[in-house]
Amino acid sequence: MSHYHPLSEAEAIEIARSIKEVFPQDGEFVCREIGDGNLNLVFHITQPATGAGIIVKQALPYVKVFGESWPLTVDRARIENQALIKQGEISPGLVPKVYKTDTEMALTVMEDLSDHVIMRKGLIEGGVYPAFAEQISEFAARTLFFTSDLGMSPQDKKLLVQSFVNPHMCKISEDLIFEEPYYDAKANNIDEAIRDAAEANWADEELKLEVALLREKFLVSAQALLHGDLHTGSIFVTPESTKVIDPEFAYFGPMGFDIGAILANLLLNFAAQEHWSADEAARRDRRAYLLNTVRDVWTLFEAKFRKLWNEQGTDRLLGSAAFQDDYMRRLLQDTVGFAGAKTVRRVYGFAHVADIDSIPDAAAKERAQRLALAIGTSLIKGNRQASSIEDVIRIATEAA
Ligand code: ADP
Ligand code: MG
Ligand code: MG
Ligand code: MG
Repeated sequence: MSHYHPLSEAEAIEIARSIKEVFPQDGEFVCREIGDGNLNLVFHITQPATGAGIIVKQALPYVKVFGESWPLTVDRARIENQALIKQGEISPGLVPKVYKTDTEMALTVMEDLSDHVIMRKGLIEGGVYPAFAEQISEFAARTLFFTSDLGMSPQDKKLLVQSFVNPHMCKISEDLIFEEPYYDAKANNIDEAIRDAAEANWADEELKLEVALLREKFLVSAQALLHGDLHTGSIFVTPESTKVIDPEFAYFGPMGFDIGAILANLLLNFAAQEHWSADEAARRDRRAYLLNTVRDVWTLFEAKFRKLWNEQGTDRLLGSAAFQDDYMRRLLQDTVGFAGAKTVRRVYGFAHVADIDSIPDAAAKERAQRLALAIGTSLIKGNRQASSIEDVIRIATEAA
């Protein structure tokens, strides 16, 4: 395919038709664009005769905000498909299979995961995902370890960093997560009911120091290849299966940014449970399930990461038990801090989450927002003192 242009449905079908491993025989195709249309087109193409399907995702060269279009490089499609391929090599079965990529057209042709549900939606509907903690911790431990200086040679890692330089998308994260929520930025989306809580954060110098330190880590640490946007809207689940999608924000950054994103989005759902649970007993059970998942994700991640290090670590000099313990302590603290920052930005920053925003009752929504803010700010302020995942559980439990 030649010069970049947004795909038509007919063109998307022609691309799908060429993927013989999914569609061995020709026939009628049906195409539907299922993306939210802000940044990317997502075409779902199916063949009714066989039931087979495929996804064609294409990056658009602009992003729609405030009713305006801002330019945004489509290089993120290359980053996304290279990250999916890398992650698939390192953690098989935990990302969609990539069938075809086209850098000029900014597209990725991938496995259809329509038999899964987006985890944010699944959690809102009360779903339980027994395999999730095991599988997402496997994804995080393997992708982070094997792209770090612990799991690959530092020379090879530096070469790999070059392929994932993602300045435009990193700038979006810098602004949305570490800047705008800490002053009266135009881009913030603040419900009038909680304006006092946002203003309190803008005046909180202790909080802003911790956010500045986290932002510095986000900017300068090239610890490992991150997914970069690992919220529950980027994770497809069934009770048996977990698949991570949408790594267009991938870059070499601090590992805690990815693990913190997972924990933050479980905690945002936790904060919304006054509405989503039918009664007090159900709410107690649901919150216990979510906090157990938070605990399991970290605990399993830590065990898997240490095992990889002990069995497959490439470093000799730094492979001491004392260094490993120190490294894991710092990684937990980063995770706690980034989890806090990712919680706060989803309450009154530019982009919210449906877990809280779709609560119809204004008073219940306000209580959920305030609870999420209490948890998020405590995590940020406490990040450098954290010594165990139980600190996160305690903060959420005491705030609720
Ligand atoms: P964006 O980067 O624009 O957020 P996503 O990659 O998150 O795009 O995809 C947007 C939506 O498209 C997802 O929430 C999901 O509903 C659908 N989708 C994306 N990838 C797949 C896939 N591999 N299989 C099935 N549906 C998908
Ligand atoms: Mg989207
Ligand atoms: Mg997405
Ligand atoms: Mg995306």
